[in-house]
Amino acid sequence: MNLNISVIVPLKNEEESLPELAAWIDRVMQAHHFTYEVWMVDDGSTDDSWSVIQQLAAQNSSIKGIKFQRNYGKSAALNEGFSAAQGDVVITMDADLQDSPDEIPELYRMIMEEGFDLVSGWKKKRYDNAFTKNLPSKLYNYTTTRMSGVKLHDMNCGLKSYRKKVVKSIEVYGEMHRYIPVIAKWNGFRKIGEKVVEHRARKYGVTKFGLERFINGFLDLATIMFIGKFGKRPMHLFGALGSLSFFVGFIIAFYLAFAKIFFDKVNMTDRPIFYLALLCMIIGSQLFLTGFIGELVTRNATERNSYLVEERMDHTITDYELQI
Ligand code: UDP
Ligand code: MG
Repeated sequence: MNLNISVIVPLKNEEESLPELAAWIDRVMQAHHFTYEVWMVDDGSTDDSWSVIQQLAAQNSSIKGIKFQRNYGKSAALNEGFSAAQGDVVITMDADLQDSPDEIPELYRMIMEEGFDLVSGWKKKRYDNAFTKNLPSKLYNYTTTRMSGVKLHDMNCGLKSYRKKVVKSIEVYGEMHRYIPVIAKWNGFRKIGEKVVEHRARKYGVTKFGLERFINGFLDLATIMFIGKFGKRPMHLFGALGSLSFFVGFIIAFYLAFAKIFFDKVNMTDRPIFYLALLCMIIGSQLFLTGFIGELVTRNATERNSYLVEERMDHTITDYELQI
């Protein structure tokens, strides 16, 4: 069956919120006659989140669950949800009821009718701590907008909607969930929009993100900018610089050798230019190798997302499919 919407909910220790969230999402979907699935991705919870998910899935076959072997972070949880999602429109939403499921119909409409590839929520009015959350968030949005050219007020809002093809093109790890719109843009999805969304205070549990995650986030931004600029190919930058340097050194050495053989005027080792030639060739080959290593590292980091799924619950998959 063709699904209109997949909702992905990354979560860690959110047992109290889940029943309310599931019921609320279902209410909205029924009211608008959407066919849907919800992927609750349990990112290594130590409370009873997983058994709550199992109960919810037993009551409603649209609720599906994935349980990670341990905590791998929000990016890994979203990444796994992105691979599982089958709906035409994919919506990501935090589990803590800070995002309102009432926003879903409009987020869906903007993708299907207005032709957006990605719509990001904008928590214009926030209910978070001013110093550890709101201020760093403002700073971070300003910098990211400047560096990436993607103009969003609230890049890291957990509530977003995507055209299916966009999530299938995205791989995130580390703290990269903060930059999904930037990655989408690099992948060629240009129609990125924004919708002011209601933000609610956390009802149960505690926040899992503090100041230190912002610092890791900035380091990830540098990686993304690098990968985006050089098309996942550090070789293109370092390889070109290295080859140029090597070529210059080679020309100088060639000239010296030519002068020595045909005119016998130069005593090579006396001339600083001989050392310059050597230096250029050595630096050239070093740069080339740096590019090569960079190539291996970025490939390893972007093309392999290593996390373990302990359990998967999906009532729409038959036992036969689960076995293969
Ligand atoms: N989360 C997660 N893995 C983690 C940390 C958080 O899946 O390692 C989930 C969390 O359960 C919530 C969402 O990510 O559904 C946003 O986290 P939180 O509400 O703590 O962040 P905040 O809203 O305070 O920025
Ligand atoms: Mg929250």
